[in-house]
Amino acid sequence: MRIDLHTHSNVSDGTDTPAELVATAARAGLDVVAITDHDTTAGWAPAADALPPGLTLVPGAELSCASVAADGHVVSVHLLAYLFDPDSPSIVTEQTRLRAERRARLRSMAERMASDGLPVDADELLGALPADSPAGRPHLAQALMRAGLVETVNEAFARFLGNGSGYYVAREDTPVQTAIDMIAAAGGVTVLAHPFASTRGRTVTPEVIRELAARGLGGLEVDHPDHDGATRERTRALADELGLVRTGSSDYHGTNKTIGIGQETTAPEQLEALVARASGSPLRVG
Ligand code: AMP
Ligand code: FE
Ligand code: FE
Ligand code: ZN
Repeated sequence: MRIDLHTHSNVSDGTDTPAELVATAARAGLDVVAITDHDTTAGWAPAADALPPGLTLVPGAELSCASVAADGHVVSVHLLAYLFDPDSPSIVTEQTRLRAERRARLRSMAERMASDGLPVDADELLGALPADSPAGRPHLAQALMRAGLVETVNEAFARFLGNGSGYYVAREDTPVQTAIDMIAAAGGVTVLAHPFASTRGRTVTPEVIRELAARGLGGLEVDHPDHDGATRERTRALADELGLVRTGSSDYHGTNKTIGIGQETTAPEQLEALVARASGSPLRVG
């Protein structure tokens, strides 16, 4: 059984359509794939409709969350949510707000760049994206590539889009405890995505993860491309200490990242444990 529990389609910031995503997963030899677009469930239906025989789809999302550290610093946290009821009113409302926030924030970043003389047009960028889509920095990276300013998405992040860049604009994300409660109330289960991926900026501490586990967090993403070997060991030990599910996933984004689908995987018994904790939405079997 090969299981990848974290992938993005072009409904958020990946490059495969949801139908292409499940076809890619099947071609890569996966038995189970989760679709976890940022702040939307719009890809669930088209992915389920296109499921190749033998492939199981775990409906999910990656929620943009914030955790406030003891010193007041806001730490960005990504929360994977699986098998929740997508029609839960509190989730629909919060995800709609976050998507609007994402577009406003991407516009601010594009305007900062344009006023600095960089060849980006905020109206053109936002106009090319679907009205209710969760726009992200990879979309701005693509615009910089089209303008010939950079050659790759990675280069765009390194030179212009990183959290330390002068063009970076923060978002008003959901408090992570609130998000865990919302997903639990909608019958879903939550997993902290790449919890110690320090190349992305400041991360939460083990103490915060202990609090989140007490609050109902279901698992930790142990095997992720942004975790080195020592980080994986540390994350695995923490998950075991707290009785949390351990997942492994590629965080595939199509050609917006270099990682392949299925490059990191989750053990079948860990998926079983996740599914056992959820009741808000069924697995889709192709
Ligand atoms: P945003 O959601 O707008 O804050 O942008 C973050 C997204 O950008 C992540 O979900 C990744 O898909 C992508 N990303 C972050 N860092 C990099 C990087 N160095 N290279 C390519 N993509 C990145
Ligand atoms: Fe992303
Ligand atoms: Fe993430
Ligand atoms: Zn992701």
